[in-house]
Amino acid sequence: MKRALLVSLSALLLAACAGMPQPLEYTAQDRTILVRAEQQEDAAALLALAQELYPKVAQSPHMLPLRPLELRVRRQSGRYSAGANRWKGDLRQRRESWIEVQLGSDPQQYRWILAHEFTHYLLGDEWLPLPMIVEEGLCDLVAEQLDPATGAQRRMSHAVLLASWLGPGLSVTRTDRATGRMETITLRVNIDREEMPSVVSMLRFDERSYHSIRDPKQNQLLYAFGYLLVSRIGIEKLSALCAQAREAGVDAVPPEWLLAAAGVRLGDEESWKRVVDGLIGGVELEAMEKALTLD
Ligand SMILES: [Zn+2]
Repeated sequence: MKRALLVSLSALLLAACAGMPQPLEYTAQDRTILVRAEQQEDAAALLALAQELYPKVAQSPHMLPLRPLELRVRRQSGRYSAGANRWKGDLRQRRESWIEVQLGSDPQQYRWILAHEFTHYLLGDEWLPLPMIVEEGLCDLVAEQLDPATGAQRRMSHAVLLASWLGPGLSVTRTDRATGRMETITLRVNIDREEMPSVVSMLRFDERSYHSIRDPKQNQLLYAFGYLLVSRIGIEKLSALCAQAREAGVDAVPPEWLLAAAGVRLGDEESWKRVVDGLIGGVELEAMEKALTLD
């Protein structure tokens, strides 16, 4: 049962890059957004969702204003959806860019995927010093404002991954439905600490080295770690750290600045446990119970 829960929580997060070119014959558009899809109903549905979410992401602090957006939408087998920002030429210029979305069969995931990808799309130059995994965390932080239910599921899953990486797993107290008794259970996924890159090298990943992590659990742990830092630091302080890095003439915000701002210290296990436990509250535990019911 516990194992199944973890699989269902972490499988939700398998949002990675994929894509088999198919003709995108159908379009739906307004003055800002163009959606190209394999099926007319997908084009219409994604345009409606994008019209709601794209302006809201643009209104979040430190985002670029709305600019023309092209969504290329494909279908993929299975329940899970995925998304990716694409561009031609230099990443920093993003001369010609668009968003690719692969839709799975569960429409509840579309909102999260779009909000997350729109955030990548609207990050301006001020965010360039942000390490890659921290950018992922920032996109999740904006997405959870627009999809709080998925946000709670992801925080639960992130906490389990992080606690399994840092120690024996996450202990939570819950009421057993059959007996009505309180019980403490440990949620854990198998993560081999030796196989993971060091904390500092995770924070030095760039576009290329970041994608070298192929194992789904390890990949999700990177998201979890990026999110943990961003949720602790907050958007304003994170933006200030980027400005400070530029002033110091360094390409990226140094790992030690990020760790200090998040209140964690290498080698101080208590400080890590405290911030990971801080991800979990009532709504996250409710999300866990819902996942248990589904299983
Ligand atoms: Zn992303």
